[in-house]
Amino acid sequence: MMTEPAAKDKMKVLIMGGGPAGLAAGKILTDEKVSCIVFEQDNGVGGLSRTHSHNGFLFDLGGHRFFTKKNELDEFIQRLLVDELIDVRRLSKIYFMNRYFNYPPTFMNAVTGLGPWVSAEILASFLKEKLRPRKTPVVTLEDWMVSQFGRKMYELFFKNYTEKVWGIPCTEVSAAWAAQRIKGMSLLSTIRETLFPSGKDRPVSLIPSFKYPAHGIGRISERLKQEIEKRNSVRLNSRVASVRHNGKEITGVVIKTREGKEYVETATDYLSSIPVTELIQIFDPPAPAEVIAAARRLRYRDLLICVLMFDSEPITKDTWVYIPDPQIEFGRLHEPTNWSPAMSPPGKTSLVFEYFSFESDPLWSLPDEKIVENTVKQFTRIKLAPGAEEKIIDHCVVRAKKAYPMHEIGHESMLVLIKNFIKKFSNLTLMGRYGMFIYNNLDHSMESGIRAAQNLCGARYDLEEVLKRDEYLEIKYPKND
Ligand SMILES: Cc1cc2nc3c(=O)[nH]c(=O)nc-3n(C[C@H](O)[C@H](O)[C@H](O)COP(=O)(O)OP(=O)(O)OC[C@H]3O[C@@H](n4cnc5c(N)ncnc54)[C@H](O)[C@@H]3O)c2cc1C
Repeated sequence: MMTEPAAKDKMKVLIMGGGPAGLAAGKILTDEKVSCIVFEQDNGVGGLSRTHSHNGFLFDLGGHRFFTKKNELDEFIQRLLVDELIDVRRLSKIYFMNRYFNYPPTFMNAVTGLGPWVSAEILASFLKEKLRPRKTPVVTLEDWMVSQFGRKMYELFFKNYTEKVWGIPCTEVSAAWAAQRIKGMSLLSTIRETLFPSGKDRPVSLIPSFKYPAHGIGRISERLKQEIEKRNSVRLNSRVASVRHNGKEITGVVIKTREGKEYVETATDYLSSIPVTELIQIFDPPAPAEVIAAARRLRYRDLLICVLMFDSEPITKDTWVYIPDPQIEFGRLHEPTNWSPAMSPPGKTSLVFEYFSFESDPLWSLPDEKIVENTVKQFTRIKLAPGAEEKIIDHCVVRAKKAYPMHEIGHESMLVLIKNFIKKFSNLTLMGRYGMFIYNNLDHSMESGIRAAQNLCGARYDLEEVLKRDEYLEIKYPKND
């Protein structure tokens, strides 16, 4: 429900969650001289885009590159990080049939690596898809990928990795997810880019470098926090435990601190980037039973990270290495030192292994030592850097819950129910990846926070529409904004 904004000096905005979305909103409000306060449950800001540190080594929860299609956002980041941004050369590989291929798979690389027979099969199955009109609608992720790449390419390169990420068959993931995430990327664009490089419509996912803060992606959130604290505050270790309301407005939230203190904080307006599935369940009085049931049906994929530290110069040249092989448990790895030398002490390096999993998987309850042992064994098996296992000097394991909102078939109707309930509250706005339950990137999350804050100051953005219109941000055509 849209109401007229109050005078800025009468406003107090309470922001739930100190990830990129919440902090970007806080920065805009601070610049507008609006009073605001951010509550973050963790002992540091950044959420999933936080850079962790361990004995002098820095690492993201899976390498995070910042990329945006919007000049406004690009400039926002440039101003925020001034001279902290460096250019990172992008070089990714995929481990497949005991060999490494370029990623995204280029046509020539596939031909030389797979041989002419398999390459011909790829081309034939692609042409079959393109020349023969589909008889059934594109509903599932499998339908979408087959229609874009052909069945052979889907089965060889995409199926195993995607199923590793989601933990469910591609036939149970909504095609809408792929259309939003991988739009513009097709076998044709890949072939065209291989044969005619630097074409002016080249998708950015194929452009060989990106910007990155020298001390990790978490610097974006740390800098936003500093900006907010020029006038306002960010409270760490402070969980939003309950949200009070009168059916039309939010009237206050209960904050619980790590030390066990509990208090009520009130505001004129509330912005939430905490998982909407949790928000619904902490309403006081409770949300209707069907809305709570819908929130419980929305699922997330969780992420476990194992980091191995080496007494060595960098041991790969890659930014990311994808491992679709179902025999290997981790799905992706990266070497932070290749992103920025400042991520490791001099003469040392590390590898970050990502296990896409559910919190309920046996993996999550394994002791860290066992996870490290399994990771070392499988690292040796994939022969990425033979002998490097002898130089391991340290390790660390991080468990990150709710890493990916799952776009399962049918989830849209649950979301509609939830968002219709939220619309009843005139002073509550949802933003961010988990607040809106949209599988988006850091820049999208920040943009939703920025727009939410601008709306409180009189703008009229429809956040859902803004994010939908933006298509998939990995694909930036230079001609566009
Ligand atoms: C493995 C991986 C790799 C990724 N790589 C990239 C990449 O390369 N580029 C990119 O742009 N994006 C990437 N992303 C996406 C990016 O991490 C997210 O889009 C972004 O962090 C979302 O920001 P957010 O503020 O919406 O949510 P979050 O980062 O999740 O922030 C939400 C915050 O709310 C806090 N919170 C939750 N509940 C409560 C509560 N009850 N009370 C108080 N606080 C609470 C959380 O602790 C968290 O800090 C990646 C994500 C993953 C998982």
